[in-house]
Amino acid sequence: MRIVQSQALFAAAQKVIPGGVNSPVRAFRAVGGQPLFIARGQGPYLHDVDGNRYIDYVLSWGPLILGHAHPQVVEALKKAVERGTSYGAPTALEVRLAELIRTLMPACEMIRFVNSGTEATMTALRLARAFTGRDKIIKFEGCYHGHADMLLVQAGSGVATLGLPDSPGVPRGAVQDTLVAPYNDLEAVQALFDAHPGQIAAIIVEPVAGNMGVVPPAEGFLAGLRTLTQQHGALLIFDEVMTGFRVALGGAQALYGITPDLTTLGKVIGGGLPVGAYAGRAEIMQLVAPAGAMYQAGTLSGNPLAMTAGIETLNILRQPGVFDGIVACTRKLCEGISAAARAAGVPLFTTQVGTMFSAFFTPDPVTDWASAKRSDTQRFARFFQAMLEQGVYLAPSQFEAGFVSLAHDDMVIESTITAARWAFQQVA
Ligand SMILES: *Cc1c(COP(=O)(O)O)cnc(C)c1O
Repeated sequence: MRIVQSQALFAAAQKVIPGGVNSPVRAFRAVGGQPLFIARGQGPYLHDVDGNRYIDYVLSWGPLILGHAHPQVVEALKKAVERGTSYGAPTALEVRLAELIRTLMPACEMIRFVNSGTEATMTALRLARAFTGRDKIIKFEGCYHGHADMLLVQAGSGVATLGLPDSPGVPRGAVQDTLVAPYNDLEAVQALFDAHPGQIAAIIVEPVAGNMGVVPPAEGFLAGLRTLTQQHGALLIFDEVMTGFRVALGGAQALYGITPDLTTLGKVIGGGLPVGAYAGRAEIMQLVAPAGAMYQAGTLSGNPLAMTAGIETLNILRQPGVFDGIVACTRKLCEGISAAARAAGVPLFTTQVGTMFSAFFTPDPVTDWASAKRSDTQRFARFFQAMLEQGVYLAPSQFEAGFVSLAHDDMVIESTITAARWAFQQVA
């Protein structure tokens, strides 16, 4: 595989952009080698600047559930851009996307659009604190909620410990109210409520964890969080930035039948353009300025291009059979990958929820960050490179989700499985 153009661009990039990338995991550091520079995306494929083609299971880290450059989305965007890119004034598009989301996810009674998932989670927590008059929050090890200070907390320090900042530059004070529990561990959450009575504003959770690889909630975990938050007067925030319109059309809250107080969204609802949203019970959302006193604003929030891409994406996704078809393809892919690993004698634990999947290089079940970390990341890296060599582009880390789109048809899935058979043999 020739990647000379990518190499030249990466060298140039590293001189003007830290690490040569605008988001760290893109740099391929977990798998070695160097990132590919992309010239275009089409359907299930990425084309790099050297003319190589790859089947894409990253899909811009989740948003592109229709695949790259879906004709209907592109057409709508062309029309929208001719009407101007941003007005800083309300539009019908914002109302339409908000109504569409509320139809699919009824717990989102009111919605505020922002520009990223990070903004959404940061503000949802501000709102939960404003609503409850409390300061402390609970998050889970291995769950990622964007890069706001208070959420960048080291995982792994065990039950009921105060979080330590995960990055230099995060002041101690910013995380002093962040409590951390292991994912899928209700007893740890109970212990935190007992240790901090009347002080916990909210639990924020990925209802299906996607940022340590895909880790589904254990039976009763989400229901337990719902009960505990209700008992203690705290809010339950589902961070569905990744899972929203990915694990089910109505998100994890529909799939598991649990209604959170607040929901954060992003990725799919922007159809590949920068969008986030926080949403929830009207009584709580009415606290947001100018309806209420909790301040939050955004120059480009709800801009017509992002709203257009979101509306088109959700409208296609909710047509009968579309979502279920993508889920069926994802299942077929996971079954094929599992079988290929078994045939090669490579221990693998695969997970799949809706259109998201992971393949952990470990024989043991992965249920939380501690068990995810037991994966053989070196073997994953070799597998990643073997797949890339055959034109399959996986997320360049063991601890990221894989995504399937409407553009991934049976033929694409089949050739991915064929590539996997060979790749597992290389790493066996
Ligand atoms: C991607 C992600 C975020 C952050 O969204 P950005 O748009 O990257 O800021 C937050 N929460 C979850 C669960 C995510 O997957």
